[in-house]
Amino acid sequence: MKKPAKLNKADEELIAAATVAIKQRYRDDWQEVGAALRTRSGKIFTGVNLDAYLGRMAVCAEAVALGRAVVDLGEAGIDTIVAVHHPSPAEKAQPITVVSPCGACRELIFDYDPKARVIVPNGKSPRVVQIGELLPNKYRRGSEA
Ligand SMILES: [Zn+2]
Repeated sequence: MKKPAKLNKADEELIAAATVAIKQRYRDDWQEVGAALRTRSGKIFTGVNLDAYLGRMAVCAEAVALGRAVVDLGEAGIDTIVAVHHPSPAEKAQPITVVSPCGACRELIFDYDPKARVIVPNGKSPRVVQIGELLPNKYRRGSEA
C-alpha cells in the first residue's frame, strides 16, 4: 500500500463543506454523517446520510452527494470525496471528524471513478488514499473476472 498523502488546500475545503452540510442538517439518529465530493470538473456537491426506521432503507451521505452530482452534471467523475461524523448530544464534547467510507460506499465510489481520491482518518490528521487502496479484490461479476 502506498503511503497516504497529506491533505492539500482543496481537500481541507472539501472537509469544511462536508462539515457545514452536517452541521446544518444534523438530526439525532437520522442525519449524523455529512459528505462532500469534488467532481473532475471542480464542482463540489454535499450530502447527508438518510437514516430510516427500516434500517436497510438507510442511504449513506456519500451516495446522496453522488446522486446530487449525477442529477446536475451526469457522469462527472469523482476527484475527491470525504465523509465526516457529527457527534450525538451524548458525545457533545467530541469534534466532527473524518470517517472512512463504509464497504458499500467503497464499491459505489470505485464504480463511479476508480481513480477517486478518498480522505480517510489517520490519527490526528486525515490523509488521502486512492479508492482502489481501500478496496482490494473489488467485487466483479463472474463474466468480468
Ligand atoms: Zn456508506
